[in-house]
Amino acid sequence: MTTRTTEDMHTGTWRTFRPVIDAEKCVLCYSCWKFCPDLSMIVREEGDYPSVDLLHCKGCGICANECRPGAITMEREPL
Ligand code: SF4
Ligand code: SF4
Repeated sequence: MTTRTTEDMHTGTWRTFRPVIDAEKCVLCYSCWKFCPDLSMIVREEGDYPSVDLLHCKGCGICANECRPGAITMEREPL
């Protein structure tokens, strides 16, 4: 049996909405990073703004839901 990690699965191809971060509203609390079920919210170093791994982000919107300052908007992908 062949095993694969989820890293090999490009779940970003499922996405119909993508998270867009407004850095002006971001307070660097990293709730988005903590709650993302796919480890698709990337924080390279403490103090950096988060960014999204669009190859794996499936657009579930949990990060936007957990972002208290409302810094993340889910925007529709172009058809
Ligand atoms: S949850 Fe919102 S405010 Fe907190 S780090 Fe993420 S984008 Fe910034
Ligand atoms: S939309 Fe879902 S998968 Fe994408 S970064 Fe946010 S929580 Fe993670």
